[in-house]
Amino acid sequence: MRAVDLILKKRDGGTLSREELDFLVQGYVRGEVPDYQMAAFLMAVYFRGMEPGEVADLTMAMVESGDRMDLGSIPGIKVDKHSTGGVGDKTTLVLAPLVAAAGVPVAKMSGRGLGHSGGTLDKLESIPGLTVDIPPERFLEQVRRIGVAVVGQSRRLVPADGKIYALRDVTGTVDSLPLIASSVMSKKIAAGADAIVLDVKTGSGAFMKDFEAALALARTMVDIGERAGRRTRALITNMDQPLGYAVGNALELREAVATLAGGGPADLRELCLVLGSHMLVLGGAARDLAEARSRLEQLLVSGAGLARLQAMVEAQGGDPRAVLPPGLSGATAPAVPEKDLLPVARYVHLLPARAGGYVARVDALLVGRAAMLLGAGRARKEDRIDPAVGIVLRRKVGDPVARGEPLAEVHYNDADRLPAALELLERAYSIEGERPPVPALVMALVTGEGVERYRA
Ligand code: URA
Repeated sequence: MRAVDLILKKRDGGTLSREELDFLVQGYVRGEVPDYQMAAFLMAVYFRGMEPGEVADLTMAMVESGDRMDLGSIPGIKVDKHSTGGVGDKTTLVLAPLVAAAGVPVAKMSGRGLGHSGGTLDKLESIPGLTVDIPPERFLEQVRRIGVAVVGQSRRLVPADGKIYALRDVTGTVDSLPLIASSVMSKKIAAGADAIVLDVKTGSGAFMKDFEAALALARTMVDIGERAGRRTRALITNMDQPLGYAVGNALELREAVATLAGGGPADLRELCLVLGSHMLVLGGAARDLAEARSRLEQLLVSGAGLARLQAMVEAQGGDPRAVLPPGLSGATAPAVPEKDLLPVARYVHLLPARAGGYVARVDALLVGRAAMLLGAGRARKEDRIDPAVGIVLRRKVGDPVARGEPLAEVHYNDADRLPAALELLERAYSIEGERPPVPALVMALVTGEGVERYRA
């Protein structure tokens, strides 16, 4: 077999076999297929696309490039959750402990943030002492013992993805549906869960800006998961405006804690209940979505999910008092510390509304970029994060505001970074005279059986 023949086949619209895809992927990881041939192949995929079976074969070829986690020593059905990334998306921080408290083990490998999009690991690392760098045996032991762990992905899982992603980044082939779907699903399949719930975002702050593109991605990923023997469902959810109010690592963690304590923003709580209900049903802990939801609601009231987060933080070397909501203590909870143990920015600037009316738009991409400029995210992989900084929205779409009232708080440490961030934040908001309709948060459900649209 020769790489050039496979490039020609794809260039001319052919369908590659599993053996041919293995030849390319394993050859690339071993250094036998050079960057220039893999780049040509990726560009051919970008223009020609892939058949459903072919993209599933590419995914499995990528899975085979490294180790797979064996979660067999953890009793029960293991359910994973993945979000395609967005602004203010702290659902994993709420869901992993909440779902574990409902009896479904969550052995989660997460990623870091890049660009305007945040990453769960960065948010967790704002807790003093906490580590996400945990060897596989300890990871498994933690899930067996307390039902939940959220750690960084082992470098031995899907090495093909790291290498191919770096090449896509510099060859204009990132935004290709089969390449995104195989990249995401290879990592999920190698991570070993029995079932997977995907949160595919659509809107200004998402990878897929429009609904139809998000639907196509969701269908492809569900199909890959089902072919690999994993029960897989995807929800398509709105990312036109940030999720919740907080954007920035420690700020988001506080909001996740408030949600686990039974409060928190309505949209974040709702999304966690919807995604969590699907996780419980797939994990066999509830007969249907209604039963699952009511169980999760009870766990939010009782604080059982929050207790599980504290146990996880402690198991991973962090101070569990850092994730106590203000004013909460009890027999099972450590005493509330005198001061906030999470990093706090030195300054807060309020962005005033230039006009009165109703908020018609809070552009997630611009808010995410503004937070990144403050130091909450990375422009390049090597950049260091400032866990304290970020933005807290005071108004979201549909909210009334009077001229001069604050639209958002900007938490910052470096005054030089403030003007550029403020300019983006100002552009993120539109205010109109009429109250606009508030967009639906959950737009569709995609399963192996088909698509249920909640909004046309
Ligand atoms: N996230 C991934 O893991 N891979 C992609 O290709 C895009 C988003």
